Amino acid sequence: MTIPSQTARPRPLVAGNWKMNGLKPSLKEVSAMRSAVEAGGAGRAELALCPPATLVMAVAELCRGSAITVGGQDCHAKASGAHTGDISAQMLKDCGATYVIVGHSERRTDHKETDADVAAKALAAKSAGLVAIICVGETEAERRAGQELTVVARQLEGSIPADFTSAELVVAYEPVWAIGTGLTPTTQDVANMHASIRGLLVKKLGEEGAGVRILYGGSVKPGNAVELMGVPDVDGALVGGASLTAKDFMGIAGAYATA
Ligand code: PEP
Repeated sequence: MTIPSQTARPRPLVAGNWKMNGLKPSLKEVSAMRSAVEAGGAGRAELALCPPATLVMAVAELCRGSAITVGGQDCHAKASGAHTGDISAQMLKDCGATYVIVGHSERRTDHKETDADVAAKALAAKSAGLVAIICVGETEAERRAGQELTVVARQLEGSIPADFTSAELVVAYEPVWAIGTGLTPTTQDVANMHASIRGLLVKKLGEEGAGVRILYGGSVKPGNAVELMGVPDVDGALVGGASLTAKDFMGIAGAYATA
């Protein structure tokens, strides 16, 4: 089973966030993904892999010339300088990256990143010629309190700099309570949130906002991909755990195989 025709929508993006997982032997999964994509396993969808920084260059080399692009998981807001342990957007670009994830909830929590920090990183990504995948999403307590739309609107307003085009930006809606838990919102809840995000993007970016891809992330698996990817204004997925193996990642990308 596949989702309905996607031709009127932007080219879907299925991005894998490997987080702090992956060593050299994991590259065999990337080779298997490339073969599967070349056999038509992702239809017109673009696949992106965001491995740990240690593997960005190797994954970019393995995927060169294929429909799989590569991204980093974070970048510093500055282009260079005395920031031990950090990586700049320019460095990711230099390694062959196309994307960089900014504002993932794990970084907002673990590193106390604010919306202003995320916006600065998105600007750095743009300056380096990378597409920023800006993550937003409410906590379980915020959803229980019925505040999810307000919280995400506030995050978007603070995290997206002005004047971005649809080619420079992807938004990933990731409810924090759905990440790595096996829980997902109902398709109606996803539809409501993505419609709200679309409205805010158009308000902020004008016509460009209509073409920004909005990904859903949080416990996307092969078994729920078709249902989630078929929701209006869901232009792909940001996938954590299920992006680590070719079998699961291609099982999700397969939602687009004939779309
Ligand atoms: C993520 O952390 O970006 C994510 C979506 O994780 P998972 O798919 O494992 O829930």
